[in-house]
Amino acid sequence: MVSELLEALRVPARVGPDLTGRDTADQLGLADKAAGRRYRDKFLEELPDLQALLWAEDQRSVLLVLQGMDTSGKDGTIRRVFSGVNPQGVRVASFKAPSADDLDHDYLWRVHTAAPSRGELGIFNRSHYEDVGVVRVLGLVPEQRWRSRYQHIREFERLLTDEGTTVLKVFLHISRDEQRERLQKRIDDPAKRWKFNRGDLDMRARWDDFMSAYEDAMAETSTDWAPWYVVPADRKWVRDAAVAELLVTTLRGMKLQPPAAERDLDGIVIE
Ligand code: AMP
Ligand code: MG
Repeated sequence: MVSELLEALRVPARVGPDLTGRDTADQLGLADKAAGRRYRDKFLEELPDLQALLWAEDQRSVLLVLQGMDTSGKDGTIRRVFSGVNPQGVRVASFKAPSADDLDHDYLWRVHTAAPSRGELGIFNRSHYEDVGVVRVLGLVPEQRWRSRYQHIREFERLLTDEGTTVLKVFLHISRDEQRERLQKRIDDPAKRWKFNRGDLDMRARWDDFMSAYEDAMAETSTDWAPWYVVPADRKWVRDAAVAELLVTTLRGMKLQPPAAERDLDGIVIE
């Protein structure tokens, strides 16, 4: 059962989220940072065992899709939520601007090969949603082409689900103001400067277009089998707590079982 908290973050099918109407600094009922960390840790303590079961069962997989504007905390979420799990069972795919080879294929080609194998916990740091996000905002393909993609994506995620992958999608929602502060820090802090690209400012200038594109994408693709969640992400501790709960609740709901041992092992003594 998904908790009330997660139910509130879930994007209803077809309706979509009103992103500008959602509070990016929402604390989700958590009193303060310390309470948020405790809440997060309660879930994270369970994660290694659940992941070990997923790996042992070796039949199904989980795919966490992370989207969000620059500085929304995709990398930080991965670092904090997955720090305690066995790297062998985790596969992270980070999607950058497509290569020439990628562009020589349909947009889902590179995405499908990066999907988790049975037993794996997969993470997409950006994803095929760039192909209806930045691609739409920058007009990289004609409208008729990106519009058809909503249906491809619903069906692609249906295919993954039918074949054993549980898909959950998280939009890390920061405010434009919070992004300003985080980008400024990247410039002011010499240790963070490498993270800054001038191109990020062009994207920032298109903020409202990105919000519209994300609203439409989520309305079109939040399905019963692959729902979207909008996580308020101005506060990192709220973000981490929500993603931890979402992931652990999903894994719990899968009722994972280790495979049956071979029979008649009792009494065998290894010489
Ligand atoms: P970063 O996540 O900061 O490493 O940046 C990756 C960049 O690649 C972002 O600006 C994305 O918008 C861009 N990107 C990812 N996927 C696509 C895509 N399918 N088409 C165009 N740009 C993309
Ligand atoms: Mg970047």
